[in-house]
Amino acid sequence: MTVTPQEISRARIADIGAREEQAYRDRTPKSAALFERARQSMPLGVASSFQAYDPYPLFMTDARGSRISDADGNEYIDFDMAFGVLAAGHSHPLLAEALQHRVANGTCYTFPVEDGIALAEEIKQRFGADLVRFSNSGTESTMDAIRVARGYTGREKIIKFEGGYHGHHDDVLVSIQPPRDAMGPNESPATVPASAGIPRSRIAETVIAPFNESDILAAILQAHRGEIAAIIVEPVQFNIGVVPPKEGYLERLRELADEHGIVLIFDEVKTGVVLAWGGAFEHFGVKPDLFCLAKSIGGGIPIGAFGGRREVMASIETLEGTPAFTDGAAGSGIERSTIPGGATRVAHLGTFNGNPLSMTAGLVTLTQILTKDAYPRLHAMADRLTAGSQAVLDRYGLPGYAINVGPKGCVMFTPGRVTNYRDFIGLDAELWAASFFYLANRGILLPPGPDDQWTLSVQHRDADIDRYLEVFGEFAAELTGGSRA
Ligand code: PMP
Repeated sequence: MTVTPQEISRARIADIGAREEQAYRDRTPKSAALFERARQSMPLGVASSFQAYDPYPLFMTDARGSRISDADGNEYIDFDMAFGVLAAGHSHPLLAEALQHRVANGTCYTFPVEDGIALAEEIKQRFGADLVRFSNSGTESTMDAIRVARGYTGREKIIKFEGGYHGHHDDVLVSIQPPRDAMGPNESPATVPASAGIPRSRIAETVIAPFNESDILAAILQAHRGEIAAIIVEPVQFNIGVVPPKEGYLERLRELADEHGIVLIFDEVKTGVVLAWGGAFEHFGVKPDLFCLAKSIGGGIPIGAFGGRREVMASIETLEGTPAFTDGAAGSGIERSTIPGGATRVAHLGTFNGNPLSMTAGLVTLTQILTKDAYPRLHAMADRLTAGSQAVLDRYGLPGYAINVGPKGCVMFTPGRVTNYRDFIGLDAELWAASFFYLANRGILLPPGPDDQWTLSVQHRDADIDRYLEVFGEFAAELTGGSRA
Protein backbone atom coordinates (compact mmCIF):
# COMPACT_ATOMS: atom_id res chain seq x y z
CA MET A 1 0.00 0.00 0.00
CA THR A 2 1.37 3.40 -0.91
CA VAL A 3 0.32 6.24 1.28
CA THR A 4 0.82 9.82 0.25
CA PRO A 5 2.39 11.69 3.13
CA GLN A 6 0.00 14.30 4.36
CA GLU A 7 0.98 17.87 4.87
CA ILE A 8 1.66 18.21 8.55
CA SER A 9 1.23 21.71 9.80
CA ARG A 10 4.58 23.30 10.65
CA ALA A 11 2.84 25.23 13.42
CA ARG A 12 1.63 21.97 14.94
CA ILE A 13 5.11 20.44 14.90
CA ALA A 14 6.51 23.61 16.48
CA ASP A 15 3.78 23.68 19.16
CA ILE A 16 4.27 20.04 20.13
CA GLY A 17 8.05 20.46 20.05
CA ALA A 18 7.94 23.50 22.35
CA ARG A 19 5.44 21.91 24.73
CA GLU A 20 7.47 18.70 24.98
CA GLU A 21 10.74 20.56 25.52
CA GLN A 22 9.10 22.45 28.37
CA ALA A 23 7.81 19.18 29.82
CA TYR A 24 11.35 17.79 29.58
CA ARG A 25 12.62 20.76 31.59
CA ASP A 26 9.84 20.33 34.16
CA ARG A 27 10.66 16.65 34.65
CA THR A 28 14.43 17.05 34.92
CA PRO A 29 15.36 19.94 37.24
CA LYS A 30 18.27 18.01 38.75
CA SER A 31 19.82 17.45 35.33
CA ALA A 32 19.39 21.17 34.65
CA ALA A 33 21.18 22.05 37.89
CA LEU A 34 23.97 19.55 37.25
CA PHE A 35 24.38 20.97 33.78
CA GLU A 36 24.75 24.50 35.16
CA ARG A 37 27.41 23.22 37.55
CA ALA A 38 29.18 21.18 34.85
CA ARG A 39 29.41 24.23 32.57
CA GLN A 40 31.64 25.91 35.15
CA SER A 41 34.23 23.16 34.71
CA MET A 42 33.85 21.70 31.22
CA PRO A 43 33.26 23.26 27.79
CA LEU A 44 29.56 22.67 26.97
CA GLY A 45 29.27 21.02 30.39
CA VAL A 46 30.21 17.58 29.02
CA ALA A 47 33.26 15.40 28.46
CA SER A 48 32.54 14.72 24.76
CA SER A 49 30.78 17.29 22.58
CA PHE A 50 28.52 14.51 21.27
CA GLN A 51 26.90 14.45 24.73
CA ALA A 52 25.76 18.07 24.48
CA TYR A 53 22.31 18.94 23.17
CA ASP A 54 19.71 21.63 23.74
CA PRO A 55 18.40 22.50 26.24
CA TYR A 56 20.74 20.28 28.32
CA PRO A 57 21.59 16.58 28.50
CA LEU A 58 20.05 14.23 31.01
CA PHE A 59 22.50 13.30 33.74
CA MET A 60 22.21 9.58 34.39
CA THR A 61 22.72 7.74 37.65
CA ASP A 62 22.23 4.03 37.02
CA ALA A 63 21.20 1.47 34.45
CA ARG A 64 20.41 -2.21 34.28
CA GLY A 65 19.17 -4.40 31.44
CA SER A 66 17.20 -2.20 29.05
CA ARG A 67 16.50 0.51 31.65
CA ILE A 68 18.35 3.66 32.57
CA SER A 69 17.53 6.29 35.23
CA ASP A 70 18.30 9.98 35.36
CA ALA A 71 19.23 12.15 38.32
CA ASP A 72 15.58 13.04 38.94
CA GLY A 73 14.66 9.37 39.24
CA ASN A 74 12.91 9.16 35.86
CA GLU A 75 13.27 5.72 34.34
CA TYR A 76 13.58 5.17 30.60
CA ILE A 77 13.59 2.18 28.34
CA ASP A 78 16.94 2.77 26.75
CA PHE A 79 16.97 2.54 22.95
CA ASP A 80 20.11 4.68 22.66
CA MET A 81 22.27 2.15 24.48
CA ALA A 82 25.22 4.50 24.70
CA PHE A 83 25.46 5.23 20.99
CA GLY A 84 25.28 1.52 20.27
CA VAL A 85 27.86 0.34 22.80
CA LEU A 86 25.47 -1.94 24.58
CA ALA A 87 24.25 -4.80 22.44
CA ALA A 88 24.89 -6.76 25.67
CA GLY A 89 22.53 -4.43 27.57
CA HIS A 90 23.41 -2.49 30.70
CA SER A 91 25.42 -4.22 33.37
CA HIS A 92 24.82 -7.76 32.16
CA PRO A 93 24.94 -10.07 35.22
CA LEU A 94 27.64 -12.29 33.69
CA LEU A 95 29.77 -9.28 32.88
CA ALA A 96 29.18 -7.62 36.24
CA GLU A 97 30.29 -10.76 38.03
CA ALA A 98 33.43 -11.23 35.92
CA LEU A 99 34.39 -7.59 36.28
CA GLN A 100 33.98 -7.63 40.04
CA HIS A 101 36.49 -10.43 40.15
CA ARG A 102 38.77 -8.55 37.76
CA VAL A 103 38.61 -5.29 39.72
CA ALA A 104 39.55 -7.12 42.89
CA ASN A 105 42.61 -8.59 41.17
CA GLY A 106 44.15 -5.67 39.34
CA THR A 107 42.90 -3.79 36.31
CA CYS A 108 46.12 -2.68 34.66
CA TYR A 109 49.45 -4.46 34.39
CA THR A 110 50.99 -3.30 31.06
CA PHE A 111 52.04 -6.93 30.80
CA PRO A 112 50.00 -9.17 28.54
CA VAL A 113 47.24 -11.42 29.88
CA GLU A 114 45.75 -14.69 28.68
CA ASP A 115 42.27 -13.20 28.28
CA GLY A 116 43.74 -10.97 25.57
CA ILE A 117 44.87 -14.00 23.57
CA ALA A 118 41.47 -15.64 23.91
CA LEU A 119 39.72 -12.43 22.85
CA ALA A 120 42.01 -12.03 19.84
CA GLU A 121 41.29 -15.66 18.90
CA GLU A 122 37.53 -15.05 19.18
CA ILE A 123 37.74 -11.92 17.00
CA LYS A 124 39.88 -13.73 14.44
CA GLN A 125 37.21 -16.40 14.13
CA ARG A 126 34.33 -13.99 13.80
CA PHE A 127 35.98 -11.74 11.23
CA GLY A 128 38.07 -14.28 9.33
CA ALA A 129 41.21 -12.40 10.38
CA ASP A 130 44.80 -13.54 10.71
CA LEU A 131 46.01 -11.01 13.27
CA VAL A 132 44.42 -8.59 15.72
CA ARG A 133 45.63 -5.72 17.92
CA PHE A 134 43.80 -3.95 20.76
CA SER A 135 43.34 -0.28 21.49
CA ASN A 136 40.95 1.69 23.69
CA SER A 137 38.38 3.31 21.41
CA GLY A 138 37.02 3.46 17.90
CA THR A 139 39.09 6.55 17.24
CA GLU A 140 42.30 4.77 18.11
CA SER A 141 41.34 1.75 16.03
CA THR A 142 40.73 3.72 12.84
CA MET A 143 43.81 5.88 13.46
CA ASP A 144 45.96 2.78 13.89
CA ALA A 145 44.44 0.90 10.95
CA ILE A 146 45.04 3.89 8.68
CA ARG A 147 48.67 4.09 9.81
CA VAL A 148 49.13 0.39 9.15
CA ALA A 149 47.64 0.84 5.66
CA ARG A 150 49.98 3.74 4.97
CA GLY A 151 53.01 1.89 6.26
CA TYR A 152 52.10 -1.20 4.30
CA THR A 153 51.47 0.55 0.99
CA GLY A 154 54.00 3.36 1.33
CA ARG A 155 51.25 5.76 0.18
CA GLU A 156 49.84 8.73 2.08
CA LYS A 157 46.34 9.62 0.93
CA ILE A 158 43.15 7.96 2.09
CA ILE A 159 39.57 7.94 0.83
CA LYS A 160 36.76 8.70 3.24
CA PHE A 161 33.07 8.98 2.41
CA GLU A 162 30.97 12.08 2.94
CA GLY A 163 28.78 11.68 6.03
CA GLY A 164 30.94 8.89 7.41
CA TYR A 165 32.32 9.12 10.95
CA HIS A 166 35.44 7.30 12.05
CA GLY A 167 36.37 9.06 15.27
CA HIS A 168 38.05 12.31 16.15
CA HIS A 169 41.59 12.17 14.78
CA ASP A 170 42.67 14.67 12.14
CA ASP A 171 42.64 12.37 9.10
CA VAL A 172 38.97 11.52 9.40
CA LEU A 173 37.37 14.45 11.22
CA VAL A 174 36.45 15.90 7.85
CA SER A 175 33.25 15.99 5.79
CA ILE A 176 31.20 14.52 8.65
CA GLN A 177 28.19 16.76 8.08
CA PRO A 178 29.58 19.53 5.85
CA PRO A 179 27.40 22.59 5.29
CA ARG A 180 25.67 22.58 1.91
CA ASP A 181 27.57 25.61 0.61
CA ALA A 182 30.98 24.09 1.45
CA MET A 183 30.60 20.53 0.24
CA GLY A 184 31.42 21.04 -3.44
CA PRO A 185 30.17 18.99 -6.41
CA ASN A 186 29.01 15.41 -5.88
CA GLU A 187 31.60 14.14 -8.40
CA SER A 188 34.48 15.57 -6.37
CA PRO A 189 33.31 16.55 -2.88
CA ALA A 190 35.42 19.04 -0.96
CA THR A 191 37.33 17.90 2.13
CA VAL A 192 35.60 20.00 4.76
CA PRO A 193 37.14 20.03 8.26
CA ALA A 194 34.60 19.37 11.02
CA SER A 195 36.80 21.11 13.57
CA ALA A 196 39.19 23.99 13.88
CA GLY A 197 42.73 22.93 14.68
CA ILE A 198 43.19 20.43 11.87
CA PRO A 199 46.25 21.47 9.83
CA ARG A 200 45.65 22.09 6.13
CA SER A 201 48.42 19.60 5.37
CA ARG A 202 46.38 16.83 7.03
CA ILE A 203 43.22 17.73 5.17
CA ALA A 204 45.12 17.49 1.89
CA GLU A 205 45.68 13.78 2.55
CA THR A 206 42.00 12.85 2.86
CA VAL A 207 40.07 12.56 -0.39
CA ILE A 208 36.29 12.57 -0.08
CA ALA A 209 33.90 10.46 -2.15
CA PRO A 210 30.10 10.18 -2.07
CA PHE A 211 28.86 6.94 -0.44
CA ASN A 212 26.99 4.44 -2.61
CA GLU A 213 28.30 5.88 -5.91
CA SER A 214 30.80 3.40 -7.26
CA ASP A 215 31.24 5.03 -10.68
CA ILE A 216 32.21 8.31 -9.08
CA LEU A 217 34.59 6.49 -6.76
CA ALA A 218 36.19 4.73 -9.74
CA ALA A 219 36.79 8.12 -11.38
CA ILE A 220 38.25 9.58 -8.18
CA LEU A 221 40.59 6.59 -7.87
CA GLN A 222 41.74 7.07 -11.47
CA ALA A 223 42.52 10.71 -10.73
CA HIS A 224 44.59 9.64 -7.70
CA ARG A 225 46.18 6.56 -9.21
CA GLY A 226 49.02 5.22 -7.08
CA GLU A 227 48.38 7.71 -4.26
CA ILE A 228 45.70 6.08 -2.13
CA ALA A 229 46.74 3.88 0.81
CA ALA A 230 43.30 3.08 2.18
CA ILE A 231 39.60 3.34 1.60
CA ILE A 232 37.87 3.55 4.96
CA VAL A 233 34.13 2.94 5.02
CA GLU A 234 31.30 2.27 7.42
CA PRO A 235 29.67 -0.73 5.69
CA VAL A 236 26.33 0.78 6.76
CA GLN A 237 26.48 4.56 7.23
CA PHE A 238 25.26 4.65 10.82
CA ASN A 239 26.26 8.23 11.54
CA ILE A 240 23.60 9.72 9.28
CA GLY A 241 20.71 7.63 10.56
CA VAL A 242 20.67 4.26 8.82
CA VAL A 243 22.02 4.21 5.27
CA PRO A 244 22.72 0.71 3.96
CA PRO A 245 25.03 0.04 1.05
CA LYS A 246 23.29 -0.41 -2.30
CA GLU A 247 23.18 -3.95 -3.66
CA GLY A 248 26.66 -4.88 -4.84
CA TYR A 249 28.28 -1.67 -3.58
CA LEU A 250 30.60 -3.25 -1.00
CA GLU A 251 31.61 -5.91 -3.54
CA ARG A 252 32.51 -3.10 -5.95
CA LEU A 253 34.59 -1.39 -3.25
CA ARG A 254 36.47 -4.65 -2.81
CA GLU A 255 37.13 -4.87 -6.58
CA LEU A 256 38.25 -1.27 -6.87
CA ALA A 257 40.57 -1.59 -3.85
CA ASP A 258 42.14 -4.70 -5.42
CA GLU A 259 42.48 -3.05 -8.79
CA HIS A 260 44.39 -0.12 -7.26
CA GLY A 261 46.38 -2.00 -4.61
CA ILE A 262 44.52 -0.14 -1.86
CA VAL A 263 43.90 -1.44 1.67
CA LEU A 264 40.13 -1.68 2.19
CA ILE A 265 39.21 -0.85 5.80
CA PHE A 266 35.77 -1.63 7.15
CA ASP A 267 35.04 0.58 10.12
CA GLU A 268 32.95 -1.92 12.07
CA VAL A 269 32.86 0.16 15.25
CA LYS A 270 29.05 0.27 15.00
CA THR A 271 28.38 -2.80 12.88
CA GLY A 272 30.83 -5.31 14.38
CA VAL A 273 29.28 -7.98 16.63
CA VAL A 274 25.98 -6.07 16.40
CA LEU A 275 24.66 -6.70 12.88
CA ALA A 276 25.73 -10.31 13.16
CA TRP A 277 28.11 -12.58 15.05
CA GLY A 278 30.74 -11.69 12.44
CA GLY A 279 29.58 -8.10 11.91
CA ALA A 280 29.19 -6.54 8.48
CA PHE A 281 31.73 -9.03 7.15
CA GLU A 282 29.28 -11.84 7.85
CA HIS A 283 26.14 -9.84 7.11
CA PHE A 284 27.23 -8.68 3.65
CA GLY A 285 29.76 -11.40 2.84
CA VAL A 286 32.50 -8.98 1.77
CA LYS A 287 35.92 -9.22 3.35
CA PRO A 288 38.04 -6.12 3.91
CA ASP A 289 41.82 -6.13 4.34
CA LEU A 290 41.46 -4.53 7.76
CA PHE A 291 38.52 -3.95 10.10
CA CYS A 292 38.10 -1.73 13.15
CA LEU A 293 36.08 -2.58 16.24
CA ALA A 294 35.14 -0.81 19.48
CA LYS A 295 31.84 -0.04 21.25
CA SER A 296 29.84 -3.27 21.62
CA ILE A 297 32.79 -5.66 21.84
CA GLY A 298 33.52 -4.41 25.38
CA GLY A 299 29.99 -4.70 26.74
CA GLY A 300 30.31 -1.18 28.18
CA ILE A 301 33.99 -1.07 29.08
CA PRO A 302 36.29 1.07 26.89
CA ILE A 303 38.02 -1.02 24.23
CA GLY A 304 39.06 -0.94 20.61
CA ALA A 305 40.52 -3.49 18.23
CA PHE A 306 41.60 -3.75 14.65
CA GLY A 307 42.80 -6.63 12.57
CA GLY A 308 42.79 -8.35 9.25
CA ARG A 309 45.15 -9.90 6.73
CA ARG A 310 48.45 -11.23 8.04
CA GLU A 311 50.49 -9.54 5.34
CA VAL A 312 49.10 -6.11 6.20
CA MET A 313 48.97 -6.48 9.99
CA ALA A 314 52.51 -7.86 10.12
CA SER A 315 53.87 -4.42 9.25
CA ILE A 316 53.33 -3.69 12.95
CA GLU A 317 56.75 -3.76 14.58
CA THR A 318 58.80 -2.07 17.26
CA LEU A 319 59.50 1.66 16.80
CA GLU A 320 61.74 2.64 13.89
CA GLY A 321 65.18 3.38 15.33
CA THR A 322 64.87 0.88 18.16
CA PRO A 323 66.09 -2.68 17.91
CA ALA A 324 63.66 -4.89 16.00
CA PHE A 325 62.05 -7.61 18.05
CA THR A 326 63.88 -10.71 16.95
CA ASP A 327 60.71 -12.70 16.47
CA GLY A 328 58.58 -9.79 15.15
CA ALA A 329 57.36 -9.89 11.56
CA ALA A 330 59.01 -13.25 10.96
CA GLY A 331 57.15 -14.68 13.93
CA SER A 332 53.93 -13.57 12.30
CA GLY A 333 54.80 -15.68 9.29
CA ILE A 334 55.95 -12.92 6.97
CA GLU A 335 59.33 -11.54 5.97
CA ARG A 336 59.38 -7.80 6.38
CA SER A 337 61.21 -7.42 3.08
CA THR A 338 57.97 -8.35 1.30
CA ILE A 339 56.23 -5.26 2.62
CA PRO A 340 56.20 -2.64 -0.13
CA GLY A 341 56.83 1.05 0.47
CA GLY A 342 59.53 2.97 2.33
CA ALA A 343 59.29 2.81 6.13
CA THR A 344 58.40 -0.75 6.88
CA ARG A 345 57.95 -0.70 10.63
CA VAL A 346 54.58 0.59 11.76
CA ALA A 347 54.32 1.52 15.41
CA HIS A 348 51.22 0.59 17.35
CA LEU A 349 51.35 1.62 20.97
CA GLY A 350 49.27 2.40 24.04
CA THR A 351 49.58 2.07 27.80
CA PHE A 352 46.07 0.71 28.19
CA ASN A 353 46.10 -1.53 25.10
CA GLY A 354 45.09 -5.03 26.09
CA ASN A 355 44.55 -4.10 29.74
CA PRO A 356 43.03 -6.91 31.81
CA LEU A 357 39.78 -5.05 32.54
CA SER A 358 38.98 -4.51 28.85
CA MET A 359 40.18 -7.96 27.85
CA THR A 360 37.98 -9.71 30.41
CA ALA A 361 35.04 -7.50 29.48
CA GLY A 362 35.50 -8.28 25.79
CA LEU A 363 35.98 -11.98 26.34
CA VAL A 364 32.90 -12.38 28.53
CA THR A 365 30.80 -10.20 26.22
CA LEU A 366 31.70 -12.14 23.11
CA THR A 367 31.92 -15.68 24.43
CA GLN A 368 29.10 -15.64 27.00
CA ILE A 369 26.63 -12.92 25.99
CA LEU A 370 26.77 -12.04 22.28
CA THR A 371 26.99 -15.68 21.28
CA LYS A 372 25.75 -17.00 17.93
CA ASP A 373 22.34 -17.88 19.32
CA ALA A 374 21.74 -14.30 20.53
CA TYR A 375 21.31 -12.87 17.04
CA PRO A 376 18.06 -14.37 15.71
CA ARG A 377 16.08 -12.89 18.60
CA LEU A 378 17.80 -9.50 18.26
CA HIS A 379 16.94 -9.43 14.57
CA ALA A 380 13.35 -10.49 15.16
CA MET A 381 12.80 -7.75 17.76
CA ALA A 382 14.37 -5.14 15.49
CA ASP A 383 12.30 -6.19 12.51
CA ARG A 384 9.17 -5.93 14.62
CA LEU A 385 10.12 -2.46 15.84
CA THR A 386 10.72 -1.31 12.28
CA ALA A 387 7.52 -2.86 10.91
CA GLY A 388 5.52 -1.39 13.79
CA SER A 389 7.04 2.07 13.29
CA GLN A 390 6.35 1.88 9.56
CA ALA A 391 2.75 0.91 10.25
CA VAL A 392 2.37 4.04 12.40
CA LEU A 393 3.94 6.23 9.69
CA ASP A 394 1.60 4.72 7.09
CA ARG A 395 -1.51 4.94 9.27
CA TYR A 396 -1.04 8.65 9.85
CA GLY A 397 0.69 9.52 6.60
CA LEU A 398 3.79 10.92 8.27
CA PRO A 399 6.62 11.89 5.93
CA GLY A 400 9.25 9.30 6.71
CA TYR A 401 10.18 5.66 6.72
CA ALA A 402 11.40 3.17 9.27
CA ILE A 403 14.54 1.20 8.55
CA ASN A 404 16.87 -1.19 10.32
CA VAL A 405 19.90 -3.26 9.52
CA GLY A 406 20.14 -5.95 12.15
CA PRO A 407 19.45 -4.64 15.66
CA LYS A 408 20.02 -0.99 14.70
CA GLY A 409 17.39 1.21 13.14
CA CYS A 410 15.51 4.49 13.15
CA VAL A 411 12.75 6.50 11.59
CA MET A 412 14.14 8.69 8.83
CA PHE A 413 11.90 11.74 8.76
CA THR A 414 12.06 12.35 5.04
CA PRO A 415 9.78 10.94 2.34
CA GLY A 416 12.53 9.87 -0.09
CA ARG A 417 15.02 7.08 0.60
CA VAL A 418 18.37 8.32 1.85
CA THR A 419 21.30 6.77 -0.01
CA ASN A 420 24.01 9.16 1.12
CA TYR A 421 24.76 12.33 3.06
CA ARG A 422 23.31 14.70 0.48
CA ASP A 423 19.90 13.03 0.81
CA PHE A 424 20.22 13.06 4.59
CA ILE A 425 20.38 16.87 4.66
CA GLY A 426 16.71 16.88 3.64
CA LEU A 427 15.68 15.29 6.96
CA ASP A 428 13.01 17.14 8.95
CA ALA A 429 15.06 18.06 12.03
CA GLU A 430 12.19 19.85 13.74
CA LEU A 431 9.93 16.82 13.43
CA TRP A 432 12.73 14.60 14.69
CA ALA A 433 13.26 16.89 17.75
CA ALA A 434 9.54 16.91 18.58
CA SER A 435 9.54 13.10 18.49
CA PHE A 436 12.69 12.84 20.62
CA PHE A 437 11.24 14.94 23.46
CA TYR A 438 7.76 13.42 23.14
CA LEU A 439 9.17 9.92 23.51
CA ALA A 440 11.68 10.85 26.25
CA ASN A 441 8.90 12.40 28.33
CA ARG A 442 7.06 9.09 28.15
CA GLY A 443 10.01 6.93 29.11
CA ILE A 444 11.40 6.04 25.68
CA LEU A 445 14.98 7.19 25.32
CA LEU A 446 16.45 7.58 21.84
CA PRO A 447 19.87 8.96 20.91
CA PRO A 448 19.77 12.75 21.12
CA GLY A 449 20.27 13.37 17.39
CA PRO A 450 18.77 12.31 14.04
CA ASP A 451 22.20 11.14 12.90
CA ASP A 452 22.16 8.25 15.39
CA GLN A 453 19.80 5.28 15.71
CA TRP A 454 18.29 2.86 18.19
CA THR A 455 20.24 -0.24 19.16
CA LEU A 456 18.53 -3.24 20.69
CA SER A 457 20.29 -5.41 23.21
CA VAL A 458 19.96 -9.00 24.34
CA GLN A 459 18.31 -7.61 27.46
CA HIS A 460 15.46 -5.84 25.64
CA ARG A 461 12.11 -7.55 25.88
CA ASP A 462 9.10 -7.66 23.56
CA ALA A 463 7.24 -5.45 26.03
CA ASP A 464 9.90 -2.75 25.48
CA ILE A 465 9.17 -2.80 21.76
CA ASP A 466 5.40 -2.69 22.40
CA ARG A 467 5.76 0.33 24.63
CA TYR A 468 7.89 2.16 22.06
CA LEU A 469 5.30 1.54 19.36
CA GLU A 470 2.45 2.62 21.62
CA VAL A 471 4.12 5.95 22.42
CA PHE A 472 5.21 6.53 18.83
CA GLY A 473 1.61 5.91 17.74
CA GLU A 474 0.37 8.49 20.25
CA PHE A 475 2.90 10.99 18.92
CA ALA A 476 1.79 10.44 15.32
CA ALA A 477 -1.88 10.68 16.28
CA GLU A 478 -1.35 13.95 18.08
CA LEU A 479 0.76 15.38 15.30
CA THR A 480 -1.92 14.76 12.72
CA GLY A 481 -4.82 15.62 14.98
CA GLY A 482 -5.76 11.95 14.99
CA SER A 483 -6.65 11.97 11.31
CA ARG A 484 -5.50 8.89 9.48
CA ALA A 485 -4.09 9.07 5.98
N1 PMP B 1 33.79 4.74 13.92
C1 PMP B 1 32.46 4.77 13.93
C2 PMP B 1 31.71 4.15 12.80
C3 PMP B 1 31.77 5.35 14.99
O1 PMP B 1 30.43 5.39 14.98
C4 PMP B 1 32.50 5.90 16.06
C5 PMP B 1 31.82 6.52 17.26
N2 PMP B 1 30.53 6.90 17.13
C6 PMP B 1 33.90 5.86 16.00
C7 PMP B 1 34.52 5.27 14.92
C8 PMP B 1 34.74 6.44 17.10
O2 PMP B 1 34.66 5.65 18.22
P1 PMP B 1 35.05 6.25 19.66
O3 PMP B 1 34.01 7.26 19.99
O4 PMP B 1 35.07 5.05 20.54
O5 PMP B 1 36.39 6.88 19.51
